[in-house]
Amino acid sequence: MVLQDLGRRINAAVTDLTRSPNLDEKQFDSMLKEISNALVEADVNIKLVATLRTSIKRTVNFKDLPPSTNKKRLIQKAVYDELVKLVDPHAEPFKPRKGKPNVIMFVGLQGSGKTTSCTKLARWYQARGFKACLVCADTFRAGAFDQLKQNATKAKIPYYGSLTQTDPVIVAREGVEKFKKERFDLIIVDTSGRHQQEKELFAEMSQIQAAVSPDQTIMVLDATIGQAAEAQSRAFKDTADFGAIIITKTDGAAAGGGAISAVAATHTPIVFIGTGEHLLDLDRFDPRAFVSKLLG
Ligand code: GDP
Repeated sequence: MVLQDLGRRINAAVTDLTRSPNLDEKQFDSMLKEISNALVEADVNIKLVATLRTSIKRTVNFKDLPPSTNKKRLIQKAVYDELVKLVDPHAEPFKPRKGKPNVIMFVGLQGSGKTTSCTKLARWYQARGFKACLVCADTFRAGAFDQLKQNATKAKIPYYGSLTQTDPVIVAREGVEKFKKERFDLIIVDTSGRHQQEKELFAEMSQIQAAVSPDQTIMVLDATIGQAAEAQSRAFKDTADFGAIIITKTDGAAAGGGAISAVAATHTPIVFIGTGEHLLDLDRFDPRAFVSKLLG
């Protein structure tokens, strides 16, 4: 199910209810059921959906509503607020400041969109006056450095990497040191991903993290991975303790409920979402704006 369909279904459930001339509790319950089904089908964690349902019920408290209450508005607001809560962990993400080196390290599985998102983020900050650069610490995948080089060249972003050095920790350290000396504001370190959460990957991630002491670690999550997102993000959190999430491929065929559930599981804010394959396809994530757009 695509994200727009999820929004459409939730909207339709609320609209059907608010159009009804004699709004009763049975109708309210069936609206809640329809919203819950839509969220579960979009891969939002079933426990989170149950919590959302209970909270809306508690906030509206249908039975005890005085007859004069504007029930429709109350219900609409409760649904909106609970959806915002679902994607808002109330944690402030790190904000880079100009004039000092801010190091951001990316982690995530191979194919999640890490390298693409690194370049998008560097360009995003570059467009806002940051002196940004990229370090390729992925020595695992053949062609990783070439890909980063191509992306960086296209975006006119300075980069560092090595075709001969096989130790990613050394490359990461050298790259970050070089760019710090050159007074870059934003140094983004791309790390290797594997197909699974292998031991070696996690060991490598924590060594790189120790070597470059990032101000922020960002986990990249593919919106299409569904329910697996939660377990995956917990596993990454245990090792790399990321402070923010970027969800990629939100333009694709998945509603991204799994990725949204990862936010709640790890209490970590989504900072950006990837909306396509191109360099400019990156949007800042704002929970309220996201839910407003979702509901149209
Ligand atoms: P990495 O292995 O994690 O570094 O992943 P890549 O950056 O190489 O991305 C894997 C694939 O996903 C590439 O074909 C990218 O073009 C594509 N991709 C990354 N982000 C997005 C996005 O937001 N939307 C779409 N449609 N494709 C994306």
